[in-house]
Amino acid sequence: MDLADSPEEAAFRSDAKAFLDDHIHLVPTELGDSGGEWDQALAASKKWQRLLYENGWAAITWPTEHGGRGCGPVEQIIWNEECARARTPSSVNIVGIGMAGPALIAHGSAEQRERYLSRILSGEEIWCQLFSEPAAGSDLAAVATRAERDGDDWVVHGRKVWSSGAHYSRRAILLARTDSTVAKHKGMTFFVVDMDSPGVSTRPLRQLNGEVHFNEVLLDGVRIPDTDRVDAVGEGWRVAMTTILHERMALGGSINVFHMEDLLALARQRGNLSAHERDLIVRVFTLDRCLGYLNARVITKLGAGKVPTAEGSIAKLAMARQLTLAAEAAFALLGPRAVTEPGPWQDLFLIAPGVRIGGGTDEIQRNMLAERVLGLPREADESRKLPFREIRR
Ligand SMILES: Cc1cc2nc3c(=O)[nH]c(=O)nc-3n(C[C@H](O)[C@H](O)[C@H](O)COP(=O)(O)OP(=O)(O)OC[C@H]3O[C@@H](n4cnc5c(N)ncnc54)[C@H](O)[C@@H]3O)c2cc1C
Repeated sequence: MDLADSPEEAAFRSDAKAFLDDHIHLVPTELGDSGGEWDQALAASKKWQRLLYENGWAAITWPTEHGGRGCGPVEQIIWNEECARARTPSSVNIVGIGMAGPALIAHGSAEQRERYLSRILSGEEIWCQLFSEPAAGSDLAAVATRAERDGDDWVVHGRKVWSSGAHYSRRAILLARTDSTVAKHKGMTFFVVDMDSPGVSTRPLRQLNGEVHFNEVLLDGVRIPDTDRVDAVGEGWRVAMTTILHERMALGGSINVFHMEDLLALARQRGNLSAHERDLIVRVFTLDRCLGYLNARVITKLGAGKVPTAEGSIAKLAMARQLTLAAEAAFALLGPRAVTEPGPWQDLFLIAPGVRIGGGTDEIQRNMLAERVLGLPREADESRKLPFREIRR
């Protein structure tokens, strides 16, 4: 792998850097996830998204006809690197831009793309993901939320949980069961939901840092027009897999909670480092470098039209490990202040555990690697073969 920029890549980097340097002062970038700053962070993130959209930087790899920049994976990597350097606000619309948009581009109708893509890119609409349920997380194919056809509409009943940002989202992507007489992976369909529809209620869940990131979302007789069904009835699993694949890439470029240079600066400032502290810092640094290369592999494979399943799982594991170790290192250097004082280290400390769970837990990533890289036997799951309604739940 040649990691030096070609002349074209260097020109792209220089354009990206110039845009970021000229515009980053227009939004506050030091707002955290806690300490009551969330509303301001949300407003800053929306404003930043609008600026990106107006200047053609909102989606590097989306086709130009859908409002993207029409670039390849290498440019995406360069853009991610420059955003990290400039410390751009974390994206508030990860689901919209990173998951729903790519799913609509790949599986949606021309009308859906026309209706939704520019609203997502401009930040006008924030989207959320209604996949997980109390008994369908790691085993997402166990989704039990029902959607039944009624004339030109579908009527949905069910309960979703861990829905990030649902309380300020305008729309959602939903995975629901439309046929319980077939095997669990086959009877699901993918929809777009208007979160203002009658029957949608959102109950915020307060988390460790006191803020609300997640929600429980109840769907009680929610009507969805058939025009908001994405792809064919029964093809929900295929569409969901497209979103999950893009989620890995979106998370790789968007979790802006840790910067290696901040840990190094903290260590230099503290001085007099013990062997344990130096060991932790070097391990975080090693993971930081590995993660850069792993994300590059994920994006390169996606750009070649291949499915980076194994690369995505390894990158997700490495990212979760790095954030956990970085939080440990901050604690070693600062002591309890790292956790008790509001600020970036406290944010990191409280966010890191969730990264090991969201987007597929560490254990699930390891299962996938065991099967797909090491060729170990597939995990036994008798329920795969049964009609969904016959599975004991
Ligand atoms: C920060 C964050 C954001 C999230 N955002 C969203 C969102 O916006 N929308 C959404 O739909 N969901 C979201 N989720 C939910 C997330 O996808 C689930 O939490 C995750 O898939 C795990 O599911 P679960 O919580 O039901 O745990 P479970 O599946 O019940 O797992 C419990 C434990 O058992 C282990 N386990 C389960 N099955 C196996 C197995 N086969 N082999 C080995 N170990 C296993 C797991 O690793 C875990 O440790 C989010 C979660 C987090 C933490």
